[in-house]
Amino acid sequence: MLNIINCIVYQHDYRALALAVTVCVLGSFIATRLFGRVFRTFGSHRVLWMLLSSVVCGAVIWTTHFLAMLGYNPGIEHAYEPIGTLASLLLAIGFAFVAQALAASTRTGIMIEVSGAVLGLGIAVMHFTGMMALRVTGTVTFDPTLAVLSVIFGCTFGALTFNRLARPVTKFCKYGSSLALILGIASMHFTAMGAAIITPNSAIAVPEGMVSSTMLVVAVVTVICLILMTAVSSYMIDMHREEESVQNLRHMALHDAVTGLPNRPHLASKLPSLISEATKGSQMIAIVAIDLDRFKDVNDVHGHAAGDAVLRCVAERLSDNLGDDSFVARVGGDEFVAVCDAIYSRDDATRFAEKIFEEVSEPVHHQGRILTVGASIGISLYPNDGLSPDDLTSRADLAMYRAKQSATDKICFYEASMDESSREKSALALELRHAVERGELELYYQPQIDVSKREIVGFEALIRWNHPTRGMVMPGDFIAIAEETGLILPVGEWTLREACREAASWNGSYKVAVNVASAQVLQSNLPQLVHEILLETGLAPTRLELEITESSIITDQQVALHIIRQLKAMGVKIAMDDYGQGYSSLSTLRAFPFDKIKIDKSFIIDLETNEQAGAIVRSTIILADSLNIPVLAEGVENEAHLSFLLDQGCDEAQGYLFSRPVPAKDVHFAIETMVSSKAPPAQKPTEVAKTAANRPVAKPDAARAREQLRKIA
Ligand code: C2E
Ligand code: CA
Ligand code: CA
Repeated sequence: MLNIINCIVYQHDYRALALAVTVCVLGSFIATRLFGRVFRTFGSHRVLWMLLSSVVCGAVIWTTHFLAMLGYNPGIEHAYEPIGTLASLLLAIGFAFVAQALAASTRTGIMIEVSGAVLGLGIAVMHFTGMMALRVTGTVTFDPTLAVLSVIFGCTFGALTFNRLARPVTKFCKYGSSLALILGIASMHFTAMGAAIITPNSAIAVPEGMVSSTMLVVAVVTVICLILMTAVSSYMIDMHREEESVQNLRHMALHDAVTGLPNRPHLASKLPSLISEATKGSQMIAIVAIDLDRFKDVNDVHGHAAGDAVLRCVAERLSDNLGDDSFVARVGGDEFVAVCDAIYSRDDATRFAEKIFEEVSEPVHHQGRILTVGASIGISLYPNDGLSPDDLTSRADLAMYRAKQSATDKICFYEASMDESSREKSALALELRHAVERGELELYYQPQIDVSKREIVGFEALIRWNHPTRGMVMPGDFIAIAEETGLILPVGEWTLREACREAASWNGSYKVAVNVASAQVLQSNLPQLVHEILLETGLAPTRLELEITESSIITDQQVALHIIRQLKAMGVKIAMDDYGQGYSSLSTLRAFPFDKIKIDKSFIIDLETNEQAGAIVRSTIILADSLNIPVLAEGVENEAHLSFLLDQGCDEAQGYLFSRPVPAKDVHFAIETMVSSKAPPAQKPTEVAKTAANRPVAKPDAARAREQLRKIA
């Protein structure tokens, strides 16, 4: 110990020592930051970082040693042998590299500390190699105890350096690592210097061609400055890049990729702070749920690029034009939420929503086409409609659904009754789950008439739900729920089976038309299901007509076409339902082999009041005629409708004029009445049916149908 203190106090020049300490402290700090970078990096980049940190660490150890050596005064002439001096530098770098490679390849257990000890050993190897390059007029030997102690110091602090980096317990551990490296270099150096015994011997001269102390000091300082500067700048560039990518990731996590608007998580994190701001003042907050109307049409008809262009344009207009007090987020496919925190009255909220409606409804120009969408808007107000962000957003959604269902009120405020109706809907969905098993569903049948002959040609099966407490629930009140919940598949299968079974029992070869929902069309086993049901019920395939709407085939035209072709190959007929309601595109009519077009009832009902309705019906009939497809008009309620259709050359009709939908047991009566009078049946068939209850029922044409199906199969 005394040797070491003696060595430091009496044999050193303090200026050189101060320089050595500065390099050691600064360099160790930089080197350990670089080690940390190596530990955090994977893949090929790691080797590059390892190279840089090894050069820096090796150079720091080496420079500290030589600067301290320059300050060391052995009291006799001395110089440095260049090859050994250089070799000591390379060894320091090499050991640092090996130590990091070891640590990085294992990353676990005691190997971390062992790798650190290798780094410490590197300090010792460098030191003694460097000392061997020292030439004096005399000899240099070492005290073995102190020499071993110096190696132990180096290895221990080296192990601690890696230990603090690899197993940090606080954020300050990285400084602990730097301190350990500093202590490692210093304690090793001074202990080893204390171990050095220089014995003067004038017989031994310092050889020629050695490097003088002054030259060495210039070289060492230049080299270390260059190395440290390179290291610091690389580290800074990298840190900046890392920070940038963290920023990018954060932005991506909180923003929508298509429009660049904040997304749902962003909205969820923003709303609480807006609310707590609002509680300080007297203002309200409007939460506005926006759902684009007809967006699906744009996507389906013009493609996804056009859909994206509409979304981007709408997003841009909303974020540019709603003012600084608003926050707009895209929370779903075609759903946005706008929040405004400068609302002082309901009128303010209305104006805000109207502005949104205007911005959304403006046409969008995309690749020479003009695309238009509408908006259904729901508003909830803080604090009137709720205090929590969740309540407020779900209530704005409820109001938006109300707007969606309404043709005229496209902006709706939340009302307490909406909660009630939404609960009602959920309850209905739960009960519908059991309706099939409990036998609560029933089919009604409405005759379809050949208008020129005034003869029934078939019946459309229309579903009813005999609810134990609610009474008869009409399809308009539960089909949409069945579609949303997926229950349409079991319900649709039941309808198909029941309608075929019933039709097979009819006296005569009347067709039965069954409505098929979108989900059923896209269900790839529909042809197989129909085939099974026809075999099971014995109905001739030509007597079954499936009614499909245009909207259900437009989602996936290829799949729909494939399924329709399979059904047609079986002999089943396909009718396009509700023509005129959706896209009514000529290309769909051309592409799909329909056996019938059903003009939507809204056009027939409007015939007397709306000239356009007449024009649409007329042109549909002409179009269908040119494509050789028969037309059926729905909703024929009076003779005026019928005579218009007769004039236009419409083939078939269906409506209250002939008969309302009747329960299965009254179908026979409807047929009998129509056949006997060639006139519309009585309007209350159920009552008259009582007298006709015992009419004989024809045998099903099962044998013929089975024969036909077997041929197809
Ligand atoms: P839809 O396919 O257009 O069926 C015709 C609807 O018009 C029926 O309503 C029918 O009662 C009504 N209707 C018939 N003649 C007239 C008339 O002269 N004037 C007026 N104003 N209406 C008339 P309904 O039975 O309430 O069915 C409504 C809708 O529910 C159906 O429209 C159909 O889309 C759907 N639907 C009915 N049954 C089923 C089914 O089994 N499966 C599926 N997926 N949907 C069904
Ligand atoms: Ca229909
Ligand atoms: Ca229809």
